[in-house]
Amino acid sequence: MKNILKGKVVLVTGASRGIGRHIAIEMAKEGAAVAVNYLKDDNGAKETLALLNSEGVYAKAYKADVRNFKDAKDMIENVIKYFGKIDILVNNAGISKIGLFMDQCTADYDEIFDANFRSVFNCTNAAVKYMVDKKKGCIINISSIWGNAGASCEVLYSASKGAVNSFTKALGKELAPSNIRVNAISPGVIDTSMNSVFSNEDIKSIKDEIPMMRFGRSDEIGKLAVFLASDNASYITSQIITIDGGML
Ligand code: NAP
Repeated sequence: MKNILKGKVVLVTGASRGIGRHIAIEMAKEGAAVAVNYLKDDNGAKETLALLNSEGVYAKAYKADVRNFKDAKDMIENVIKYFGKIDILVNNAGISKIGLFMDQCTADYDEIFDANFRSVFNCTNAAVKYMVDKKKGCIINISSIWGNAGASCEVLYSASKGAVNSFTKALGKELAPSNIRVNAISPGVIDTSMNSVFSNEDIKSIKDEIPMMRFGRSDEIGKLAVFLASDNASYITSQIITIDGGML
């Protein structure tokens, strides 16, 4: 452990598995205390907590629906009450949905945008009020390469991540004078349950499109999040950082 985040408190949304869990673990390895948010997966959250405890850091789980403004606000207030502060917010929770655009209805729009963008608004709005007061803070949004490039059959998903990207760039500029950095990580295809919809044949053809010829790992996203959260990234804000094995 190099402890570059020692003394920091981080909240990771959607940390019961996948990328969120590994961001939490990599932050803990660097000494941060971690608040673990999730929605349904009690066992997954328990597993994440056990992994964090084995790193010897303070950790606590918060079951809250980040699509809901009050739930998100209450969660942030409870994190500040329990841990004494919040230094780093990682907006990771999200969902994907694959299908032709012409088959999508307004319920699909609400489902995707509530999970992928309203959630970012909700948590950030609550955390920023505290951070501006302290004149200190760091926000990391988990976007997607499809938010930059657009993906066929993932039009709403791509649009929701495009919104996350613009939000990141604009808010970073607005909050820079308050000493708060706002960045996004834009992953390519990462080996998580989000991609369990793909057949073996799909997986092979996706890998063929990736110059590194493999999916990314969640811990690789976690290590980038640690860098962005640390003082090593002290002059980086309003950026969308792609991590995709050369795919785009
Ligand atoms: P995942 O394995 O499906 O995990 C999603 C996490 O989000 C789970 O912990 C889930 O919690 C949580 N979550 C979903 N809706 C929530 C809500 N309303 N409130 C609180 N928590 C909620 O997904 P992943 O692959 O790790 O993806 C994480 C993020 O990375 C997403 O934003 C995704 O768009 C982005 N991303 C993923 C990939 C990829 O290839 N995997 C690529 C680019 C970007 P519960 O299970 O408890 O409900």
